Amino acid sequence: MSNKNSILSTALANYDRTAQMLQGEVDSDLLLKIRQPKERIEVTLGPLLGDNKLHLFKAFVVRHSEAMGPAKGGIRMTDSVSIDDVTGLAMEMTWKCALIGVPFGGGKSGIVADPAKLTKHDKEIIIRSFARNALRHIGPQVYVPAPDMGTNEQDMGYIKDAISFSMGKATTQGCYVTGKPVILGGIPGRREATGNGVVICITEAFKTMDMKIRGATAIVQGFGNVGSVAAIGLHRLGVRIVAVSDLYGAVADEKGLDIEALIEHTKRTGSVKDFPQGRQIDGKKMLEMPCDVLVPAAAANQITADNAPNIKAKIIAEGANGPTSPQADEILTKRGIFTIPDILCNAGGVFVSYLEYTQETQQEQMTEEEVNDRLKKRMTEKFHQVYELSRQRKITMRESAMYIGVKNVCQAMIARGYLS
Ligand code: GLU
Repeated sequence: MSNKNSILSTALANYDRTAQMLQGEVDSDLLLKIRQPKERIEVTLGPLLGDNKLHLFKAFVVRHSEAMGPAKGGIRMTDSVSIDDVTGLAMEMTWKCALIGVPFGGGKSGIVADPAKLTKHDKEIIIRSFARNALRHIGPQVYVPAPDMGTNEQDMGYIKDAISFSMGKATTQGCYVTGKPVILGGIPGRREATGNGVVICITEAFKTMDMKIRGATAIVQGFGNVGSVAAIGLHRLGVRIVAVSDLYGAVADEKGLDIEALIEHTKRTGSVKDFPQGRQIDGKKMLEMPCDVLVPAAAANQITADNAPNIKAKIIAEGANGPTSPQADEILTKRGIFTIPDILCNAGGVFVSYLEYTQETQQEQMTEEEVNDRLKKRMTEKFHQVYELSRQRKITMRESAMYIGVKNVCQAMIARGYLS
């Protein structure tokens, strides 16, 4: 079912390690059961696009587990996303939600299309087509989508609109999608939540390692929703961001890049490329440059057995899902590099999605200050829970986070009984 170092194979390798740790503590049949996704759905979309022709797009919805509650996870829209990728990502969502302590299972969806090659209008049509065609798999008690790579707040607005329109109502009852524009029932601070959560984890990691954050150096791979917010947050804490990359290029300046100016530049040009302050460098080589913190916040499988021996960072904070291959993970552990694993490091997004879900269910409104306070409290608490267990058991942060997440899911399954 999987290729070497695919998103799914990485998710399974991380799971298998954890299942081994849980042998003797949890029924082995149960451990086999939660290794499998509960449901994998493939949908064909065939909308009429702006060129007045029908176009076919594959879309997938995977619910990996519902033990803790309705499946939760974003919609990935890229030209190469596969149902196996979506399965691996849904599995990661199961452990992420269980670790961060929100009452959701793990889900994910994918639409095979490259948003960069679509007009704004065509993208809207495809998103609306997905919402209508996948509607039977979406709902507050079934699966609640959110933004992921290639989708954003505006797309979640279209989804809410398409669903309420299909129901013949002005709005939906309960939360069908999170990460919506605030004016449509979204929550302030959701867009920044993942990046802010990454910064909170890094701050705590510095404290536990007795390192000073002010004056430290960082490299950020990916300058989208996660990378740009993490970069600005670190910059404001006095961290020098010495290099940043995106799909189109990479820029470096040992004196520290002016992140606010870089954000302006990307708004204008669509990329970090050709930012006048920095020198242009190779995005791959960038990962091996000296720094205190490396934040992979782009695609999966970026830190591999090939470059792991050359990584110079002391801390790796995984803003992306699955950026480190299992082989690289072993190398980094041997080299004493402290990795904050994805299911902890980027869990701020789904935590604030949970606040949005409860807000909409109860028809309340939370302020940005409340959201950020709760995010900080939860991320800090979970960071230390994972850290303490990793110290007690002499295991890595990833092993510790996975152990807590998987064990919580097992406990929920046991509490439900074995008949499903
Ligand atoms: N796509 C994000 C993630 O991978 C957020 C998911 C959500 O908010 O449901 O964690």
